[in-house]
Amino acid sequence: MTEPCPSCGLLDQVQHVPAVYQGGHSFFRGQGPLVTVPAGDGFVTTNTQVNGVSVTAVARSLDPFPPPRRSGGLLAAAIVLALAGSCFLLLPFSAIGDPPPGGAVGIVVVSLPAVCVYVAAGVLVWLYARRLRAHRRQRRGVPAAQQVWEKGWFCHRCGGVYFADAGRLLTPAHFRQLVARAGGYDR
Ligand SMILES: [Zn+2]
Repeated sequence: MTEPCPSCGLLDQVQHVPAVYQGGHSFFRGQGPLVTVPAGDGFVTTNTQVNGVSVTAVARSLDPFPPPRRSGGLLAAAIVLALAGSCFLLLPFSAIGDPPPGGAVGIVVVSLPAVCVYVAAGVLVWLYARRLRAHRRQRRGVPAAQQVWEKGWFCHRCGGVYFADAGRLLTPAHFRQLVARAGGYDR
């Protein structure tokens, strides 16, 4: 058992933070709307399956994990840019048959857009690699963050978190900040 809540001095509404977090997730599976799909010569009407997780606001406010990594939008943008750069690069080659005014200088001028686009693509790849590294570092910090997180107690009456050895009620946001700092992924 732990110390009573430092705010109300009672224990009856106090729960271990991991228990609040787990208890706030419910998994559901059910029938979705009717859909008609073609089958052989005719059509078949069937129910769609729906399943997912619902998370309470309290559980979300006690989430100890770093924010999930966004999908590779940056990488996709870099690939698109590199392709666009290759199109631009074709310009100087097509201009060789018909030299632009200024000779060699002209060729440099027409290949400038390609160079700019390649530099931009390079910057995006660098940003992507940096984000990947930051994400890996965050994952490594999770066990340390969880150690702090597991020491937290949540009082449902007061809506705050406290540690048994420190007599002060923290807001869930403050508690999450402490957890993130322990894991090295506070922003
Ligand atoms: Zn309380």
